[in-house]
Amino acid sequence: MAEKSSSDELERRYGEEALAYLRDPSEQTLYHISLLSKRFMRAGLGPEDLLALHASVVDAELERIGAEEARARVGQLDAVALEAMIAYGAYHREIGNLVEELRRSQKELRDSTAMLVHRGKMGALGELSASIVHEINQPLNAIKLTCQDVQRTLRRAPHEDPELAESIDEVVQETRRMAEIVDGLRRFGRRDADSPRRHYDLRDSVQRVLRLVEQQLTVCGVSRESSLPEPLMVLGDRVQLEQVVMNLVSNARDAVQGLPQRTIRIDGRLTGDDQVELSVSDTGPGIAEELRSTLFEPFVTTKAAGSGTGLGLSLSRQIAEAHGGSLQLDPEAPKGARFVLRLPAREPGPA
Ligand code: ADP
Repeated sequence: MAEKSSSDELERRYGEEALAYLRDPSEQTLYHISLLSKRFMRAGLGPEDLLALHASVVDAELERIGAEEARARVGQLDAVALEAMIAYGAYHREIGNLVEELRRSQKELRDSTAMLVHRGKMGALGELSASIVHEINQPLNAIKLTCQDVQRTLRRAPHEDPELAESIDEVVQETRRMAEIVDGLRRFGRRDADSPRRHYDLRDSVQRVLRLVEQQLTVCGVSRESSLPEPLMVLGDRVQLEQVVMNLVSNARDAVQGLPQRTIRIDGRLTGDDQVELSVSDTGPGIAEELRSTLFEPFVTTKAAGSGTGLGLSLSRQIAEAHGGSLQLDPEAPKGARFVLRLPAREPGPA
C-alpha cells in the first residue's frame, strides 16, 4: 500500500516536472526528471511504466498546444523521454558495476578463505606433527635397534629360523617407511628453516634425481625423455627442491608402471616473465577428475597401503611456495599427468 502511494506520488511529480519542461524547457527540470526516473526504478517500476506515463503527459500537452505547435516542438517533447531513458541506462550501468564489484569481492573472499583454510590446515598439521614426531621417533628408534640386534643374531645362526629372518626384514622395512612418514610430518612443522639457499642450476637437481632412480626406471622398463636446453638458475634449497623433483618423478614412475607405454618426460625452460618452469609428464592414466581438488592435500593417496604416504605432493607444493613459486597440475595435459613447478629465475647478482 505504502509502495503504491509512493509510486502515485512519483507519477504526479514526474507529470508536473515533465509538463513544466514542455512549457518552459530548462536544465533544471530536465535534471529533476532524471532524478525522478531513477527513483521510479528504485521503486520497482519498469521503463514501460515510465514511457506510458511520459506518453500520457505528452498527449495532454499535445491536446493543449495543437498539431501546429507540436510539430515545431518535436525535439523538446522527445528530450523529456530521452532524459528519462538516459537516467534508466545510467541506473542500469550503476547496478551492473555494483554487481560486477560484488562478484569481484566475492571471488576475492572465496580465494582468501580457501587460502586461509589451506594455511590453517597446514598450520594445525605442523603443530600436531611437531608434538607427535618426537613421541614416535623414540619408540621407532628402539624398534630399529632391536631389529638390528635380532638380525645380527640370526646372521650368526642362519639356519635357526628362516621365517623369523624374513619377518624381521619386513619389520625393518616397515620401520623405514614409518620413519619416512615421520620425516615428512617433521617437515610440515618446519618452514624453510635449516638449509641455506644458494644460486644454482635446477638442472643439477634433475640430473641427480635421474641418476638416483636410473636403476629403478631401467628395471621397470620406463624410458625417459628430457629437454633442458638452457640453464635454469634459481635461488633455492637444493635438498628441498631435489625432494620436489624426486616426488614428481617417483609419482610418474608409479603411474606408468605395468602399462604398455611407459615414458617420463622432463622439460625445463625460462618463461617470458622470469620464471623457471620445470615440468614432469608421464604416459600414465592421468589424474581422475574427483581427485583433482584434493590432490595437493596431505594424506591424499590412491596407492596401496604401504606404498604411499599421500604427503609427496602437499610437501612439494609447500616447498615450491616457500621458494616464492608454485606447483600445479596442468589441467590441459593431453595425456597422462603433467605437473609444473615454477620458481623465480635468479641469476647470482653482484650483491
Ligand atoms: P603418494 O605418492 O604417497 O600417494 P602424493 O601426494 O605424491 O602421495 O600423491 C597423491 C596421489 O596423487 C597419488 O596417490 C596418486 O593417486 C596421485 N598422483 C600423483 N602423481 C600422479 C601421476 N603422475 N599420475 C597419476 N596419479 C598421480
